[in-house]
Amino acid sequence: MQIQENISLKKYNTFGIDVKARYFIELKNEEQIEEIFSSEVNPDKRFILGGGSNILFTKNYEGLILKNSIPGINKLTEDSNEVLIEAGAGVIWQDLVNYCVRNNYWGIENLSIIPGTVGAAPIQNIGAYGQELKNMFHSLTGYDLFKKVKKTYIKEDCQFGYRDSIFKNSLKGNFLITSVQLNLSKRPNPILSYQHVKDEIDKRNMKNPTIAQISDIICDIRNNKLPNPSKIGNAGSFFKNPEMSENTFMHLKKDFEDIKGYKTESGNVKISAGWLIEKCGWKGKRKGDVASFEKQALILVNYGNATGKEVLEFAEEVKKSVKEKFGILLIEEINII
Ligand SMILES: Cc1cc2nc3c(=O)[nH]c(=O)nc-3n(C[C@H](O)[C@H](O)[C@H](O)COP(=O)(O)OP(=O)(O)OC[C@H]3O[C@@H](n4cnc5c(N)ncnc54)[C@H](O)[C@@H]3O)c2cc1C
Repeated sequence: MQIQENISLKKYNTFGIDVKARYFIELKNEEQIEEIFSSEVNPDKRFILGGGSNILFTKNYEGLILKNSIPGINKLTEDSNEVLIEAGAGVIWQDLVNYCVRNNYWGIENLSIIPGTVGAAPIQNIGAYGQELKNMFHSLTGYDLFKKVKKTYIKEDCQFGYRDSIFKNSLKGNFLITSVQLNLSKRPNPILSYQHVKDEIDKRNMKNPTIAQISDIICDIRNNKLPNPSKIGNAGSFFKNPEMSENTFMHLKKDFEDIKGYKTESGNVKISAGWLIEKCGWKGKRKGDVASFEKQALILVNYGNATGKEVLEFAEEVKKSVKEKFGILLIEEINII
């Protein structure tokens, strides 16, 4: 097992923040985890890293970074309707999407080209275009880093919510996911609830879109709207979309007639954080190398040499002005380290 010391994390986070890690281990198999448990390499401070696409590093990391690169995609069981697929936590999420699209396994095509690894997908219950991971999630396996035991969590144990799970709360930082199991449909099951997706399908005159066509549409929509982290540093949506009761929303609508809300499963109303930020005049605004992206105000970007602290200061200003104008406190979606 190779332990690297004092290495730059710039290429390991999509914001492109140049901080250092005191210790760094790349995990390629489960045996290495057992080795870590029984070795001296056990500092109090450690952080599990996937693709670094939902993280803002604000300072050097004075502990151990465990970069998860555990590979493998396997079919566990199947019948005429469904298939149970297992993927290693280090598999690139899009590689799993491509595998499913190639094999006509329906379920994750709407989550095409979300950056990052399979192991991080349950952490914030990734979601996009009318689909969320929890809808096809079966279970995951990993290690409790304190008790040093292997454990499986089934869906009911994971407390999935909007960009949320038990792994972001009571188990935060304590549980290292090594593999994820997903239940996918072998029968066509297109999810076309999202208006933008519906419009594209109509525009392209598709009657019964295939899984590959839906995935292509999602990729096109995303490529037109979102900054590519390999060109412009970012970690996707910086804040969550706020949810409120219908009553609160109606009050807000009296003052801001053009505000749009979407009913959630729980009966609350979700409003666009991007809209709130835009209305405060931040869209496209730049300070040094930090900016709110010109096509989507909710995404904060690093145009080159911004530090994590500068991004955080910018985010705090955004938060303050949204609070002042709308009385709404934005909550960060990304992990600030
Ligand atoms: C351009 C862009 C667009 C995006 N669009 C979306 C979107 O549409 N929907 C969406 O939900 N997200 C989106 N994201 C956010 C991000 O892609 C997801 O949150 C993704 O799942 C993060 O994966 P990662 O491997 O990069 O995780 P990291 O950023 O490395 O880690 C995120 C968190 O998960 C933990 N973690 C990572 N791997 C493991 C593991 N194996 N075991 C335990 N904990 C682990 C980390 O400790 C950290 O707390 C976007 C990001 C970008 C840059």
